[in-house]
Amino acid sequence: MENILVAGGAGYIGSACVEYLLDRGFEVVVFDSLATGHRAAVDKRAEFVEGDLNDREKIISVVGEGNFSGIMHFAAYSLVGESMENPGKYFSNNLGAGINLLDAAVEGNVESFVFSSTCATYGDPTQVPIPETEKQDPINPYGESKLMFERALKWYNRIFGLKYAALRYFNAAGATGAFGEDHRPETHLIPLVLQVALGKRDAIKIFGDDYPTRDGTCVRDYIHILDLAQAHMLALEAPESGHYNLGTGNGLTVKEIIDTAREVTGHAIPAENAARRPGDPPELIGQSERAKNVLGWKPEFENAKDIIASAWEWMREHPDGYES
Ligand code: UDP
Repeated sequence: MENILVAGGAGYIGSACVEYLLDRGFEVVVFDSLATGHRAAVDKRAEFVEGDLNDREKIISVVGEGNFSGIMHFAAYSLVGESMENPGKYFSNNLGAGINLLDAAVEGNVESFVFSSTCATYGDPTQVPIPETEKQDPINPYGESKLMFERALKWYNRIFGLKYAALRYFNAAGATGAFGEDHRPETHLIPLVLQVALGKRDAIKIFGDDYPTRDGTCVRDYIHILDLAQAHMLALEAPESGHYNLGTGNGLTVKEIIDTAREVTGHAIPAENAARRPGDPPELIGQSERAKNVLGWKPEFENAKDIIASAWEWMREHPDGYES
């Protein structure tokens, strides 16, 4: 029986991943500060430890006592806009506190480390779909903090032999039957659009309609959280340390997402134009052949309609998120 520590397992992607691992026979301990996660998002079959990665002694002792073969690290702040206003929060938490988890992994003789990285490490790419060989030149502190952690991983691998996989997600979206997206405040496009359909908001704001894209709005590659979860499990056994893009290879504009949500929900979803959001690259689409070829990753959700439909189903069942 493999024992896995999931840091950030009460968050959006972490909670889906914990459920996925438990369904496949892993034992899971969730370590989460609940700063942005929810206690109700932790699968009841997992052991829960409330703790902050800034508490170095605590994480070293939890990992030291747990006999974990793997660690998955989702515990981070993830808002591009916020990182442009408060960069220190991103560097101290996403990099500084994360280093405590790396030291804990080394001291606890953990074999493999799977890290939630991001396409935001590429900045404004020169090629789209983006291959892993694209230069990494972030245009916001969020992406920079994740890139710095990727670099730290490389050194922990060289110096201590810690095996790792850095998974560079594109836009995580969708829900499992039990777990979905509940950020406070919510800033992500799909849940905000669906909150309009639910009657919780009057309209969705489109942040910029003068980008150099097919309809002037930003293009993103939306990937289902269950497909991310599958990649995390496979990455535990990655044949060699390295990094992998996780995207569908297809991009949708903000307007196309709103149209698809109209189709899924049957609601008119009023939209209004607003100023660009600082730090947003025009187009992010991922080329994920490496994850398919090396990890044997087989994503199941290929179109945005199914992804949005799964998010809509969860939201209708949880109109007040985890407080429902
Ligand atoms: N977006 C938007 N209106 C909103 C929220 C987001 O137009 O109310 C846009 C945002 O500018 C970006 C895309 O939707 O181009 C996806 O944003 P999100 O915050 O969901 O994810 P990100 O790409 O920042 O990780």
